Amino acid sequence: MKKVLLLNKNGEPLGMIPWTRALSLVFRDKVQVFEYYEGVAIRSAREVHALPSVVLLKHTFVPYGKRVGLNKRNVLVRDGFECQYCGKELSESSATVDHIIPSCNDGPHAWENVVAACKRCNNSKASKSLDQANMKLRSRPFRPSKALLLRQRAAKLGYNQWMPYFAHT
Ligand SMILES: [Zn+2]
Repeated sequence: MKKVLLLNKNGEPLGMIPWTRALSLVFRDKVQVFEYYEGVAIRSAREVHALPSVVLLKHTFVPYGKRVGLNKRNVLVRDGFECQYCGKELSESSATVDHIIPSCNDGPHAWENVVAACKRCNNSKASKSLDQANMKLRSRPFRPSKALLLRQRAAKLGYNQWMPYFAHT
């Protein structure tokens, strides 16, 4: 089922919404359609509608506010569904969250100290430091923005046509 990219009034990507919700926003004049899916039409009893791909909130600005929650799913999305030690592709069930400086050595539970890892790498690193385990990180962990996580999720789902909207995230 196709999703629709919802843009904030200022053009910032806000989220992915089901197309049914997008159409209802269009009918209620809440959004302006930026792009349509090519060759996809939605038929109702009387009418045929083009399916929006990107819509922008016309009247409402939704404050971005809240920070991104530190949980396994968001770590996995930030790290592009790849083990940050060996590069293996991960799913939500095969992924673990590794503390780079282990918790038992007072490593904080913070964005900068956690990475997605496969079970094998997490086991072989165990409670060692990177040096002790002789392991290297493929990228430096950081606190992601909401927009960045959204971009990663959209990319994973194959919505490459939306990437220009994330140019500034
Ligand atoms: Zn691994």
